[in-house]
Amino acid sequence: MRKNIVAGNWKMNKSFSEAETLICDILDGLDKIDEPLADVVICPPALYLEMAVDLIRETPVCIGAQNMSQFASGAYTGEISASMLQSMEVQYCILGHSERRKYFNETDAQLAQKVDSALANDVLPIFCCGEELSEREAGNHQNVVKGQIENALFHLTPDQFANVVIAYEPIWAIGTGVTASPEQAQEMHEFIRGIVVGKYGKAIAEETSILYGGSCNAKNAKELFAKPDIDGGLIGGAALVAEDFLTIIKSF
Ligand code: PEP
Repeated sequence: MRKNIVAGNWKMNKSFSEAETLICDILDGLDKIDEPLADVVICPPALYLEMAVDLIRETPVCIGAQNMSQFASGAYTGEISASMLQSMEVQYCILGHSERRKYFNETDAQLAQKVDSALANDVLPIFCCGEELSEREAGNHQNVVKGQIENALFHLTPDQFANVVIAYEPIWAIGTGVTASPEQAQEMHEFIRGIVVGKYGKAIAEETSILYGGSCNAKNAKELFAKPDIDGGLIGGAALVAEDFLTIIKSF
């Protein structure tokens, strides 16, 4: 059965001590849940990855990075490689977040390289895709998402693809307080699973976790996660408050 996953994308937020406190509060809260129904991934800023990995050791929580280089090593000032993440026991990496595409000009071709590098180093990609509001209004949202997935992921072998998590994040819903309706999200998730069936077959598609991201919060998570093709969430703002993040984790 495919995994339910709740991943928190902290973006560029929190001081070191605030980050420590937030992780400890999340771990305390998880201790009180009999059997969490989702895998939990926390993606703090890169500077805090070492501290985060130390805190979650011997807990079921995983740590993810928010970005990594497409290059293996060398003269790339300021960059962090997949092998570095692996050497720090970081298990996941968010790739292709719309903020990286928009502010750092990440392209599908770069993302294809990043996905390859992550997988070659046993780092599991959380691959983000999603359309602008204008693209949805023009009725082009499915084509946009299909293109992003085909360009960055469909060169993978079935065995490689089986290690990818997809996060559908409509850009118009990220950080805006406007959530895709459960029906809109389900429609896109079903569409994405359909493309994966076409490329890799039903068995792999059924095992692929497809997360929803975009103003998912403690109030709306239950309704979103009840949809058959929504396997959890990539959570921004609400992941910065332990109580809200825990409520989302309990929303299956
Ligand atoms: C995100 O940045 O991945 C995200 C989903 O943000 P928010 O939940 O704040 O919309």
